[in-house]
Amino acid sequence: MNNYYDVVIVGCGVAGCFTALHLPKNTSILMITKSDLEESDSFLAQGGICVLKNEGDYDSFFEDTLRAGHYENRKESVDMMIRSSRSVINELISYGVEFEREKGELLYTREGAHSTNRILYHEDITGKAITSVLLERVKELQNVSLLDHTTMIDILCHDNRCDGILLRQKDGRLKTVMCSHMMWACGGIGGIYDNSTNFPHLTGDALALSLRHGIRLENVDYVQIHPTTLYSEKKERRFLISESCRGEGAKLRDKNGKRFANELLPRDVLTGEIRAQMQKEGSKYVWLDFTEIKDIDVKKRFPNIYKKCLEEGYDITKDPIPVVPAQHYFMGGVYVDLDGHTSMKHLYAAGETCCNGVHGRNRLASNSLLESLVFARNAANHMKKVDEDWGAEHRRYHLMDVADLPLGELMDRYNINLNDYEDLEGYFEENKNMIWDEIEKEEKERKAL
Ligand SMILES: Cc1cc2nc3c(=O)[nH]c(=O)nc-3n(C[C@H](O)[C@H](O)[C@H](O)COP(=O)(O)OP(=O)(O)OC[C@H]3O[C@@H](n4cnc5c(N)ncnc54)[C@H](O)[C@@H]3O)c2cc1C
Repeated sequence: MNNYYDVVIVGCGVAGCFTALHLPKNTSILMITKSDLEESDSFLAQGGICVLKNEGDYDSFFEDTLRAGHYENRKESVDMMIRSSRSVINELISYGVEFEREKGELLYTREGAHSTNRILYHEDITGKAITSVLLERVKELQNVSLLDHTTMIDILCHDNRCDGILLRQKDGRLKTVMCSHMMWACGGIGGIYDNSTNFPHLTGDALALSLRHGIRLENVDYVQIHPTTLYSEKKERRFLISESCRGEGAKLRDKNGKRFANELLPRDVLTGEIRAQMQKEGSKYVWLDFTEIKDIDVKKRFPNIYKKCLEEGYDITKDPIPVVPAQHYFMGGVYVDLDGHTSMKHLYAAGETCCNGVHGRNRLASNSLLESLVFARNAANHMKKVDEDWGAEHRRYHLMDVADLPLGELMDRYNINLNDYEDLEGYFEENKNMIWDEIEKEEKERKAL
């Protein structure tokens, strides 16, 4: 690992990969991930990715996104996402991503709160189909150094300008790396919850660093609970039963087998209905019944869900399965503008870690992969533009010089005390508590309005 890179990207899910793929080939890039390369939520996405099917669907796509977001969305961001969707999908296809087709034509499915079929998918493993291809393309790039089990601990910043990162390397040693730009693509916050569909190492680290360094956050109390995850007594990541199952006709039932809700309500509303039903029955779950789906082969359409449920002792072609709501998605995050730029100079954020205003109070199903890709591309383009400015070369050479300073001098310059990171477990626990405090503070402030 060098002491200086033009760009450091934290995270290698869809947002991180797409940023790397859109930077010029002469940009030196360090890309890190806290865990294995494949352990990002991007690999877990089941349902699909939205796209503007044709011009005639624009108004309805826009309205569905706003309605799901309780009209708290930033309209210019929603417009940007929808207008950019077709070119992003075309790029994915050109990279080698395969979506379901019939006679060569793309197939579109539907999920809750969508008024029409506009979601592209690959079986029920769309995220893996997209992210594995993007990762392969990134690995082919000569200008990218990709390091797993390498964790961002802190950033080096000065006068509201981000100049570098403090990392924990695979062998446990700390290292500083200077960079002209940094991209936070660190995913959601499920790891701070007991029940979540997210990977447990996704603990909102960028949020905690924002709180430590005064970087603007937005809507941190807007957390989406997914209405249907497979109920289990085991203490592990909750397995998602995709919304597209309900879109294709699976029905929710109470303990007596009676339907109690419209399965295609927006997620937050349906979660409320399920919780109310559980409370009424004094039960830890309700039932989801696939047996009513008649026109499609459930095993073929949902092979991954079929297999996982079978492992847990349920055959979805014959029996209903127990489902429970769990933390799933984070609509809030590090505030960014349309270029993915945060309130700190040279610091960008994309994907679930940021809040670009697309989702408002609640995300419309299958908008997040799309939003992550659109705004990661915007951010990469913005970095390119900044690098064309007259001062960019000067900054680059200056940071290269700073990178070679003795460690003590570097730490003094950025006001960092390495003793603060001696107990890293304690440091991350403190980060988690800071995020919880912020969520609770925002919740209280909102209620008081
Ligand atoms: C079960 C499930 C199903 C989903 N289904 C869909 C769907 O059908 N359609 C849809 O649009 N969306 C879906 N989503 C949401 C979507 O997958 C995510 O919002 C999206 O993939 C986020 O991508 P990302 O690149 O922002 O983050 P991620 O893919 O989560 O990547 C985060 C990366 O950051 C790294 N990282 C985090 N902290 C650090 C640190 N301190 N140092 C170094 N690296 C760090 C992680 O290791 C990881 O590489 C689903 C999510 C889940 C959990």
